[in-house]
Order: sequence, then structure tokens, then C-alpha cells
Amino acid sequence: MVPAYSLATIDEGAAPVPAIRIGDRLWRLADEAPALLAPEPARGLMNLFADWGRAAAALDVLAARLGDDAAAAARALDAQAVRYLTPLRWPAKVMCTGTNYYDHLRAVGRTSFSKQDNCPAFFMKPPTTALVGPGPVRHPAGSTQFDWEIELAVIIGRTARAVPVERALEHVAGYAVALDLSARDLQKNPRHFAKMDLCLGKAFDDACPLGPLVVPARFVGDPQRLRMRLWVDDAIEQDSGTEHMIWSVAEQIADLTRLITLEPGDVLLTGTPAGTGIESGRYLSRGQRIDAEIEHLGRLSVHVV
Ligand code: MN
Repeated sequence: MVPAYSLATIDEGAAPVPAIRIGDRLWRLADEAPALLAPEPARGLMNLFADWGRAAAALDVLAARLGDDAAAAARALDAQAVRYLTPLRWPAKVMCTGTNYYDHLRAVGRTSFSKQDNCPAFFMKPPTTALVGPGPVRHPAGSTQFDWEIELAVIIGRTARAVPVERALEHVAGYAVALDLSARDLQKNPRHFAKMDLCLGKAFDDACPLGPLVVPARFVGDPQRLRMRLWVDDAIEQDSGTEHMIWSVAEQIADLTRLITLEPGDVLLTGTPAGTGIESGRYLSRGQRIDAEIEHLGRLSVHVV
């Protein structure tokens, strides 16, 4: 039997170490299944997503073996004791879907909304400078409206171009917890000619904490039935679920790939539900902590420095 497993990248001082996690134990992939990393060892887990069908089959075999091998147990690391990095190093693209939850729209005062008369809007974050793992995130200089957004992140496992809705999820390898950190005052800046800057408002350094785990889609089930919760300094701010998405994960992939190819390892953030700072007028300051949890995907914790 294949036990549920997830993938992570951990910090042991030198190069980032890709790992497989089962329950509270974790193994280095370079020790247990070096062939999986062989194409380009420095790319870590990205090797797996480059050929996800094959990697998933090999990971199933590995997970089953690790689960009942006493010698493997001796090589295991304590999953609670390691330091996690952001798992994917590095995807070519981090795509994001804007306003995509009915409860979020209602919370910002939008009382009627017709899905038929609207379309999803997308933007991007730069992978190597925006993606971070658990730990510190830098407060964006000059912003007084630094805001949180918990989001379900989708990891692409097979090239997707012009895919129909009904086949879109076949291109998904796994899921992760992510934050779409946003500087509202830089995003909607009255001093700006267009009053809108998604780059400075959402693509600044550390604007995309993600991880620490990537969970294969088969262990997650229906991506439209996942509870998601976010706390700021232990006070719950967001408590919703992916069933409130306006455009489903499949619909987002179908819409996006009409014009933009999603490649293996690419990430798609799928929007945030109600409960962000823009609704309450309370924003993040240095020293505050954010904990974000999505059902089956674990918890992501960051603090503002
Ligand atoms: Mn967002």
C-alpha cells in the first residue's frame, strides 16, 4: 500500500535538499531515489515535475518501501525538526488569479456579481525573488497597507496549452499553501497615472511564501472542497474554503492557457477568500506572524521583518 506522502526542500547548510515526507518522517531523495534527481541535480524537485507521470510512479514505489523498511526508518529525519525552504527552485512562472472568491467580493461591498458577464484576471510574480518558504518576509518599503491573502497554489505537472475545462486537472501534479502578500497602497496608488500597479503592489521581494509541502493531487481529492484558514498573531482572520471560488481551478487553467502555456513546475495561485486586511482596515507590521493552513496541505508560517 502507498502511504500518503508529500515533497519538500530542506536547508541543511549547503545546497537545498529535496526530500519526501511521510507522516512525521522525512527522507533525502538523493539518498533514497537518486535517479529522480539525475537529469539536473541542482534543480531539485523541479526534476520530478518535468516528468511528473514517471516521477509519481517512482515515488509511489519509494513511499511504499520507506513505509515498511526498518533500515529506512533509521535514515529518516524528524519532519518537525528540519528547516524548510520553498519547495520549487525554481518554476519558470508564478501566475496568480485576481479577485476569485464570492465571499471576498461580498466583503469588499460587491453585492451582485455575474460570472457570465465577467472573466478572471491574471498577474504574475517573479519566481526567484518573490517565492520564499516559511520564515521571515520583508515588509515592503514605503507601504502602510501590507496585507495577507491565503491561496491554494496549483503545481503544474504536464504542459498545458489551450486545454478544455474538463481535462484541465489532468495537468495538475500537486497543491501547496501559498500567500499572495500585497501592498494595497502600492497596488492602487493615486499618484500613479493608471492608479494600478500589480508589479510593485504584488510582485515585490518575498511576496509569495509557498509551501513548505507540495502534496500530490491524488492525496488532496477535489480541489474545490478544501477548508482554508489564516491567523495573524493567533487571531483568525480568514476562515473559508475553496468551494467559494468564482472560477474553479479547472476553469482558471482553461482560461489562462488559451494564451499562456503552463509548463511543468509552473505555479498558479487561485485567489483569496474573505478576511483580508483591506476589509478590516488592519494591516501587517514588523514582528507579526501569519499562519496559513489548507486542508490536506499543512501549515505555512511566516513572520514580518
Ligand atoms: Mn490574490
